[in-house]
Amino acid sequence: MTTDTTRVPVELRTEALESILVERNLVDPKVMDTYIKMYEQDIGPMNGAKVVAKAWSDPEYKARLLEDGTASIAELGFKGPQGEHIVVKENTPDTHNVIVCTLCSCYPWPVLGLPPSWYKDPAYRSRMVREPRTLLSEMGLDVAGDVDIQVWDSSSEVRYLVLPQRPSGTEGMTEEELAGLVTRDAMVGVAEVAAPGEG
Ligand code: FE
Repeated sequence: MTTDTTRVPVELRTEALESILVERNLVDPKVMDTYIKMYEQDIGPMNGAKVVAKAWSDPEYKARLLEDGTASIAELGFKGPQGEHIVVKENTPDTHNVIVCTLCSCYPWPVLGLPPSWYKDPAYRSRMVREPRTLLSEMGLDVAGDVDIQVWDSSSEVRYLVLPQRPSGTEGMTEEELAGLVTRDAMVGVAEVAAPGEG
């Protein structure tokens, strides 16, 4: 009898695979954790940072990005699983956007890499919907009272990416320099991009 493995959630399949590899001494869990951290914090979000920097530098690209996130992100070569339908939400002086997956941990892998553990935390998933202003403040981001907060619930259909506001003092910067300022947390919407020399 065969089992239709596509019906088993990918996280369970991955865990099963990991335990077999560790059990047979084929991988070292510490090395694996190092790689996971790299994809969470550096390699994954670097792609998103390039997208943001290009949008800040090129108004036509920005317009395309807000119109069709998936296609515009693919223009830069970033595509693949969990990125089939990416919608980009722009932060403005009036509106702050933040992303969550209330059901599980849906996240735009091609631009942000793997989700951090707090993103998968049940407290983050429920409180970001119920009391976003309070939770954001606890996470270090105070959103002014007159700024509207929009919470976007990711799903297996749609993954969101936040286009943060470009900080002041960055007028002469190149795309590469700008990309260096953009953090993963700013693209999830739990932080702002700090001006150079701050943050
Ligand atoms: Fe999910």
